[in-house]
Amino acid sequence: MNKKEIIELLSDNSNFDELREKADKTRKEYKGDGVHLRGLIEFSNHCTRNCTYCGIRRDNKNLERFRLDRDEIIEIAKHGKELGYKTIVLQSGEDLTYSIDKLQEIIAEIKKLDFALTLSLGEKTYEEYRAYKDAGADRYLLRIETTNNELYKKLHPNSSHANRFKCLEHLKELGFEVGTGIMTGLPEQSLESIAEDILFFKKIDADMIGLGPFVPSPDTPLAHNTGGSFELAIRAMAIVRILMPEINIPATSAMETIKENGRFIALNSGANVVMPNLAPKSAKLYSIYPKKSSDWSNISFAEANKKLSEIGRFVSSTKGFKKDKE
Ligand code: SF4
Repeated sequence: MNKKEIIELLSDNSNFDELREKADKTRKEYKGDGVHLRGLIEFSNHCTRNCTYCGIRRDNKNLERFRLDRDEIIEIAKHGKELGYKTIVLQSGEDLTYSIDKLQEIIAEIKKLDFALTLSLGEKTYEEYRAYKDAGADRYLLRIETTNNELYKKLHPNSSHANRFKCLEHLKELGFEVGTGIMTGLPEQSLESIAEDILFFKKIDADMIGLGPFVPSPDTPLAHNTGGSFELAIRAMAIVRILMPEINIPATSAMETIKENGRFIALNSGANVVMPNLAPKSAKLYSIYPKKSSDWSNISFAEANKKLSEIGRFVSSTKGFKKDKE
């Protein structure tokens, strides 16, 4: 697919159901019917950055802030183990309070529990990423948000787009499975720009892609903008599945937030991952956008299997690396 063809598929004129079916068929052929559950622990909503769309941005003074300490994080991970989880995702704002040593300690403790471990901690130096890898982390999520430099600058004041690209390069170089992604339907974002983002995912050979609609958050500069449509997010996700058949793609909580049954629709349109929250109390304050869906919080593998059976799917028994198929 070239840029023109992708734009055509993203536009309203092309056949939505046909695109979804093609993506679903590709997912089935390359990844199987297993759905990987990743247990998400959002452990700090402090952030030094000020992204204009984000509810936990530094300048939002109306938000109650929290941090979980090492023992609280490990306790939640142990609970995840009891529920059946095989992957933990540690996510936070760009919080400088957690030193490299502290994070290495937390990573090592979680790895002792035989989890695959994904980190989503934002932009760090090469040395920091290497320290996390040395401690045992397997994967890293860092959304590029948009490859359009002008748009990136508007959304991310005082941030370097070049550094974001560099971080992704470093993560690849260090041997992480690398996840990136975008929001669709951002103010001033064109279909051409989304098509370029999709081609970028392919170019860097990303291992995971997270796509979600832009959902305006109160107490942010973009609070009064119109949110992205569900259909556009699904279209973009389906195209990514067709172009990159072997990668892992989550049915993002933003999809469920803006559309009833959105998670299942996403799972039937190319997605093969769900990231239930294992720390629902703190998740309420990790409000990147409002009314974040919490229906799968703390779900056990048995309960998830029951839900997934409604769409002919099941919880995967593997750790869900890119090469795993079930
Ligand atoms: S999007 Fe990430 S880096 Fe930006 S303000 Fe929110 S948590 Fe911080």
